[in-house]
Amino acid sequence: MFSFLNNTWAGLVETGTTVMHTEREKRDLKLFNRAWLTVVIIQVLCLISHLFNGLYSPALTTVCFIGGLSGIYFIVKTGRVNVAKMAAVVLISIDTSVNAVVFGEQTHVIDFLLLAALSPLYFFELKNKKLIYTGIAVCLIPFVLFHVVAPYVSQYALPAAAQFKLYHLLTWEKAFCMMVLLYLIYNKNVQFEKEMQQKENELVGQKKTYECILEQIPIDIVTFDKDLNYTYINSAAVKNPAVREWLLGKSNVDYFKHRNLDIKGAEDRNRMLHEALCKGEAVEFEEMFLDKNGAARYSLKGASPIYAAGNKELSGLVGYAFDITAIKEAEKKLKEYSAELERKNDDLHHFVNATSHDLKSPLRNIASHLQLLQRKNEDKLDSDSREMIAYTIKSVKHLNQLIGDIYQYSIADRNDKPVSIANLNDLVQRSIKTLEDVITSKNAVISFSNLPTLTISPSHIETLFANLIGNALKYNTAGKPLIVVSATQTDTSHIISVADNGIGIAPEYQNQIFEIFKRLHTASEYEGNGVGLAICSKIVDNYGGKIWVESQPGQGSTFYFSLDKEMVEPDMHQTHNISPYKKMAIAG
Ligand code: ADP
Repeated sequence: MFSFLNNTWAGLVETGTTVMHTEREKRDLKLFNRAWLTVVIIQVLCLISHLFNGLYSPALTTVCFIGGLSGIYFIVKTGRVNVAKMAAVVLISIDTSVNAVVFGEQTHVIDFLLLAALSPLYFFELKNKKLIYTGIAVCLIPFVLFHVVAPYVSQYALPAAAQFKLYHLLTWEKAFCMMVLLYLIYNKNVQFEKEMQQKENELVGQKKTYECILEQIPIDIVTFDKDLNYTYINSAAVKNPAVREWLLGKSNVDYFKHRNLDIKGAEDRNRMLHEALCKGEAVEFEEMFLDKNGAARYSLKGASPIYAAGNKELSGLVGYAFDITAIKEAEKKLKEYSAELERKNDDLHHFVNATSHDLKSPLRNIASHLQLLQRKNEDKLDSDSREMIAYTIKSVKHLNQLIGDIYQYSIADRNDKPVSIANLNDLVQRSIKTLEDVITSKNAVISFSNLPTLTISPSHIETLFANLIGNALKYNTAGKPLIVVSATQTDTSHIISVADNGIGIAPEYQNQIFEIFKRLHTASEYEGNGVGLAICSKIVDNYGGKIWVESQPGQGSTFYFSLDKEMVEPDMHQTHNISPYKKMAIAG
């Protein structure tokens, strides 16, 4: 029996909680459920007492009251706790009014009124003033009703003896109800206070943790109110605790005055902070000041708006600052080094340019003079001498080619070549033209199709194809060399491949061949100087790409190179002469 009652009570207390979203709402609803169920039980006890004493009229009003209270159950079930609370207050008021009007005598009605006035204080949280006032206003209605209506109807009231008996009983009943209600209010208040204390403790704990974190960060952190007065300063920002304490509530101007600094600095800073306040956006700025020794120091400062919790209105700013003197100095040094490097690079380029020209023309002279000498003395020279001259001419030509290739290598990463939108099919075609003799002599077949149209330097890409196709022909002993040039793309790059059915490359050399002068064969096996692929690698680098090879010895090789789409895809909205190097600078 006891467990049945217990379960029923627990079930009723839980009414409506399933539709609530937060724990706080659930708790509030449970508290209300307990309250109105208590009122129902008290009224049932009253009803029993009325019936026991033969007081049928009050019993009838009590039955109506219990009926009304039971109706609240259906409101509670939908989770509308405030509507239920209001309905309870109204019901208590109506009950009070009816009792006042029908059985009214001012002194006893005050009990009802008090009871009715106290109930909203319990039902609605004590801090919810709006609802308390509404509840109290509702409770005034019976009082007014009593004065206005009671005089006209009191003539229908009970006989004096019955009235006396009734009032006597009702007085005790009301006193009991009030005590219960007062206890509930007290209890709720204690609970509320406890919760508040707990929350306050939690907040204090959290505040301490955050302050501790802010104190540990080696960055100046401060907060300002809307008038740009300091509201928090961490110890990194101001080391001296007394000054830190003094500065709270003061402005930047006060601080600058205190440190005998130029006020203009404070005004400049305030201008930036004002901007953050007005626009409601974060700002960042650099400041320069002279330290005690007169050396320039730089700091990066920033401020972001703070909004009070749940409020759209700005409540102040949080600011940070850190010393960037070292970064500034490094930046300055880097700029100097970069300018120096550029100058040296230019010198080097001029040097290579001049030397290659200066070396090439005497070499050409040596070769042509040797050829002339050979032709003139054709019949006077023995076979050994002829062979030596031929070998010297060959070496001179090789040296000439090497000087040319080294020059090409030195300028491959210069980004001053004209750029245009070019179709790669045309560029392959042009490269093939320069290799026509080898292609015919080797009986080679070169196929290519569907290559993309890109914004590039045509001479760069021609050099790439000439080297890769040239190698595919050179390092090929097949009866019918087959070379296929094709293209694919990923989200970010175009990938071009040159595949051959040549001699292939062993896996351990596949990375090394892109280094300058790295050759896998002697000059007598295959002519060359080991510069071609290094030039290709530098060119591809210019377009944010890379070059690699996949190969099986004896089965052929496929050379791939990628070009960054951002740098090579024609931009339809731009003029045709946009340089990919410019794009690279933007991307960087
Ligand atoms: P070079 O051809 O003048 O020697 P490269 O830089 O063009 O210089 O090539 C470097 C080396 O890579 C070559 O000596 C050769 O051994 C190897 N190589 C390049 N292309 C191929 C290819 N298609 N098949 C096989 N080996 C190749």
